[in-house]
Amino acid sequence: MYANLDRPNLSTGSGLLTALRASWLFDGVSSALIPDPVVLIEGSTIRGVSSGGRAPQDVTVADLSGATLLPGLIDTHVHLAFDTSSDAVGRLAQRRDAEVVDAMRSAARVALRGGVTTVRDLGDRGYLSLGLRRQAGLPTIIAAGPPITTPGGHCHYLGGTAEPTVTGIRSAVREHAERGVDVIKIMASGGNLTPGSRQDLAQFPPEVLRAAVDEAHRLGLPVTVHAHAVAAIADAVAAGVDGMEHVSFWTADGVDAPADLIQLIADRRIAVGATVGMRPVPGLTPPPEVAVRLPGIMASTRRLHQAGALMVAGTDAGIAPVKPHDAVRYAPAMLAQLGYGQAEALRAITSVAAGVCGLARRKGRIAPGFDADVLAVDGDPIADPDALHRIRAIYARGTPAASDASAAGS
Ligand SMILES: [Zn+2]
Repeated sequence: MYANLDRPNLSTGSGLLTALRASWLFDGVSSALIPDPVVLIEGSTIRGVSSGGRAPQDVTVADLSGATLLPGLIDTHVHLAFDTSSDAVGRLAQRRDAEVVDAMRSAARVALRGGVTTVRDLGDRGYLSLGLRRQAGLPTIIAAGPPITTPGGHCHYLGGTAEPTVTGIRSAVREHAERGVDVIKIMASGGNLTPGSRQDLAQFPPEVLRAAVDEAHRLGLPVTVHAHAVAAIADAVAAGVDGMEHVSFWTADGVDAPADLIQLIADRRIAVGATVGMRPVPGLTPPPEVAVRLPGIMASTRRLHQAGALMVAGTDAGIAPVKPHDAVRYAPAMLAQLGYGQAEALRAITSVAAGVCGLARRKGRIAPGFDADVLAVDGDPIADPDALHRIRAIYARGTPAASDASAAGS
């Protein structure tokens, strides 16, 4: 899956050499920080990583002493088209496409300034996110286009409606492939953003979901599904999906996560996008139907982690004020509540997330041959999750981006 995205950058001789010198390095994989690192960048690619603080001669040195370098953060579930207001759906409906594109570009810049160098957009309107890919000054964008849903179903207003039949969904998947999406997103259950849709019920019959996965895989595309309802989760697992979002095990009156289903998700290595990462906003509380289920959702997500499930932080950035476009910086604090160690949490939003986005050989690590997506923060992000909010510098594909901190100071 993601066959065309994951090519290491083998070009040489392009661009000047820059050396980033800092006090510590988290390489995206190892639990131990490397002292006195020097990261050599050529063009958009990391050429070398060494310890000992010595940079080669004749290169530009960026001195980041006191800082820890780490791979740029990766959010596996965002919506650039939603504006983080309390009525993100209504505001989007009022905007023409050109205005939406402007807002999406601003949202992507917010993500980048917050240290997020790769986002996977799991639901836009009119395939607008596809046009923002590979643009300088923006994060790397992996795009699903409008999510595939039933007529009147969850997020139908984004335009990805398909008849809930085998023929209907195959043709919707084909249309997405022809438009050039990187991943197929399917709304397998209802959701909170859509009045009238039911979070406790599956939207598509199991054979239709199976046909969708079959068609997508035939076309070389991975599938991730939005799945709250227990039946939607079970059907998605049976259909052979590559990933699932939310996975809240939502029932009509609570949360019910069967042990065998949890084990199956872990054994099949289906990527679970846990909806974690929230900026606290004073006075804002979750809707009552979410609040009452939150302890149950946290408990079942903790059980998924204990079972060894492949899990990443898919924040749903954009959908509400607590979900800014750089929300993934807040995920480690919540992953800790799910039983994650801090280095493990950092892996979840770097190297593990890169793999889930089909970018395991290009993103999520600071190593030779990888894209030069580098974040520098003050302090030690393994000892202190808040260090992720103290951004000193950001490099996206080798190019420095202004951080929020430096923007505020200028
Ligand atoms: Zn979403």
